[in-house]
Amino acid sequence: MSDTTRPNSWDARAKQNSFFGFTDLPSIEARGTTVLTHGEGPYVFDTQGRRYLDANSGLWNMIAGFDDPGLIKAAQDQYARFPGYHAFFGRISDQAVMLSETLVEVSPFESGKVFYTNSGSEANDTMVKMLWFMHASEGRPNARKIITRVNAYHGVTAVSASMTGKPYNSVFGLPMPGFLHLTCPHYWREGQSGESEADFLARLVAELEELIANEGADTIAGFFAEPVQGAGGVIPPVEGYFDAILPVLRTHNIPIIADEVITGFGRTGSVWGCESYGFVPDAIISSKALTAGYFPMGAVILGPDLSDRLQRATDIIEEFPHGFTASGHPVGCAIALASIDLVLNGGLLENVQRLIPRFETGLARLAQHDHIGEWRGRGLMGALEAVRDKSSKTPFESELSVSERIANTCGDHGLLCRPLGQSIVLCPPFIMTDAQMDEMFDKLSAALDQVFADVA
Ligand code: PMP
Repeated sequence: MSDTTRPNSWDARAKQNSFFGFTDLPSIEARGTTVLTHGEGPYVFDTQGRRYLDANSGLWNMIAGFDDPGLIKAAQDQYARFPGYHAFFGRISDQAVMLSETLVEVSPFESGKVFYTNSGSEANDTMVKMLWFMHASEGRPNARKIITRVNAYHGVTAVSASMTGKPYNSVFGLPMPGFLHLTCPHYWREGQSGESEADFLARLVAELEELIANEGADTIAGFFAEPVQGAGGVIPPVEGYFDAILPVLRTHNIPIIADEVITGFGRTGSVWGCESYGFVPDAIISSKALTAGYFPMGAVILGPDLSDRLQRATDIIEEFPHGFTASGHPVGCAIALASIDLVLNGGLLENVQRLIPRFETGLARLAQHDHIGEWRGRGLMGALEAVRDKSSKTPFESELSVSERIANTCGDHGLLCRPLGQSIVLCPPFIMTDAQMDEMFDKLSAALDQVFADVA
């Protein structure tokens, strides 16, 4: 298209040739798109010069904000030194070797191995293929089923979308057979009337035991869980959840994989979400904060047992026939090394820990609105769930699109936050100041007043 035939607004140009995923397309016809040009700290700016406080850190990933000089320099220096390479045929960049050492060192594992991907979805796919490969090499080719939970989000590739426990995947004919979803461990929504939290937990444990008995433990390849379900609406599990299900999985030798794509590197106030919940998984899936969002990258971090078993599997089958062109990209690895250093030694994790009480107080304050049924969260990830009626937890009629309206109203006031189901989700960058956090809650509070006045 020549310049003279190109539509003249950024919004029109965005709609003309860009196809949007996870976007309500009629609503962008009505409201328009937001075309962004740059960022400063936790703020982003659009083509009209409007400034927005990004309360979701991009997509949970831009933990260091949008202009961190150290991360930009790490990228520039590495581009100048060695701008790209793979990790096939026994060749690997020095940066990838150093990052693997660092990841194992900061992991909860005494020893381990790391495999690189370009995204969290690919890391989950890779882990599933590793489990299939390993079980087959150990004489269990039927150990292929994967257990996850309703409301889990593990990605969008065909395998990771099958692991994801969201109904929208039915438009693709997913999940594929053999992907089994347990009850979401959300007591407030899933607990039955009169059921105590302890009874709810006991029901979830019994459900897992029953599933394993019905399916046959020898047909199951692994269990995947986010320590806090993220894109399912920020759902911390019922009290005692991991302590209760781990022994069941261990009894049946079912590997447990922690999908720490959101929770990894400080989001819950510890380096890892599994650390916050006091368990050590068999492997960790990482992405997002791994590079502070400055490079697309994911990683599978294997603990000692799976590392050894996969090593033995490759002794038998010789080659793990899997990998991506950009696996272990040296620029991504250099950025990840700088980002991990920033989190652990540059004050980011400390700032998260410092901010958590202010964040929780802010959520609790907004939960006093008449139509907020629950606030929930862990660390710097939180959600407020809108309801028509607080005491009966009756949701708003879905055609009112209440959470979308709240998020749109926030956008009008210069705050970006995310509607998820009937909830508004907050996942601020780790660099936030107290004043920026107050700005976030004040703007959201005003939007809640405005929208609830319209729909009540
Ligand atoms: N796992 C979790 C827990 C996630 O939150 C996400 C992304 N939101 C993914 C996997 C998929 O990551 P990606 O979008 O990088 O493929």
